Amino acid sequence: MRILVTNDDGIGSPALSQLRRVLQPFGQVIVIAPDRNQSAMSQALTLHRPLRLHEVGEDTYSLDGTPTDCVLFAFHGKFTERPDLVVSGINHGPNMGEDVFYSGTVAAAIEGVLQGVPGVAASLVTRKPTDFREAADVVGNLVRQTLERGIEPRTLLNINIPFRPATEWRGVRVTRLGSRVYDDTLVRKVDPRGRDYFWIGGEDPVWKPEDGTDFHAVDAGWVSVTPMKLELTDHARCADMQGWDLRL
Ligand code: MN
Repeated sequence: MRILVTNDDGIGSPALSQLRRVLQPFGQVIVIAPDRNQSAMSQALTLHRPLRLHEVGEDTYSLDGTPTDCVLFAFHGKFTERPDLVVSGINHGPNMGEDVFYSGTVAAAIEGVLQGVPGVAASLVTRKPTDFREAADVVGNLVRQTLERGIEPRTLLNINIPFRPATEWRGVRVTRLGSRVYDDTLVRKVDPRGRDYFWIGGEDPVWKPEDGTDFHAVDAGWVSVTPMKLELTDHARCADMQGWDLRL
């Protein structure tokens, strides 16, 4: 069993060594992570410049690319055999609801799925400094079950862990992706020379508190696990559109 660990926060994230610690019992752990923060890069690939890989420790590499680049290197780089599992994270901040479409953390796990292996994305719901130790224990437990029980091809797990002492976690909930309230996500300011500038992000995201969602579970102190599929086709709409006049 070979496990690729990557992230989008960069090779300096303390979460990487914590994931290595909890995943090492399952097999060989290889870390390939971006050389700097690549959050919100989604599934971006670097196509217009060369990429450089640096060995920074035993089975540990940094790459001057995106999280998805890192996964591609693990599967197609000649320096290692193909991984059997991709674990991405632990992200420093949430990846819930529609944010999975922006997330570099989730994208790396998706890339693993596209390469034919299970993908696990994990995020700790805080921006505060943390050592990720207890969160990594949770991820290790869920990965163990993933390996024991099996996971369908093209499926991935998106884990979000509430930021509180482990003794205050209520358990693990299987959830669906929630919905964000998109509001004030583009902030307009004036720079010292009087020109407008804009900042994407604004305040922390606000969520619709719907029962059964990732956000609702995390907010109530549960670890949230959302199984995700990459099937985006709207099959019901396909059937409906058969009734359209589609002659050219
Ligand atoms: Mn990140």
